[in-house]
Amino acid sequence: MTVYNVTEAMVRSLLEDAYLKRGLVRCGCSQCIDDILAIALNHLPSHYVSTEHGTAYVKAKYFEPQMQSDMLRELALAVDIVARRPRHAIPEGEAPGSQPGASPV
Ligand SMILES: [Zn+2]
Repeated sequence: MTVYNVTEAMVRSLLEDAYLKRGLVRCGCSQCIDDILAIALNHLPSHYVSTEHGTAYVKAKYFEPQMQSDMLRELALAVDIVARRPRHAIPEGEAPGSQPGASPV
């Protein structure tokens, strides 16, 4: 296996379970998902591992309530930021407070 960031894997799966499966994101396109992940990950410590053992260790750590709540908090903030300011126009429907006429960019 190559080096990878366990935080990213964990945040991705939390986003999937806690938001996407429940329809809680305003837009689920790859652009918005990537934006949400980038914002959340910039506020969380990264944990790179290079072995299976390292992965197991870090994942165990991430199931601690404090880590779970840190990740959920950052995800909630990121989801909110992207919902308010998606990087593309979102057709109809629209969340309260959004201005359909306002041009993005
Ligand atoms: Zn989108």
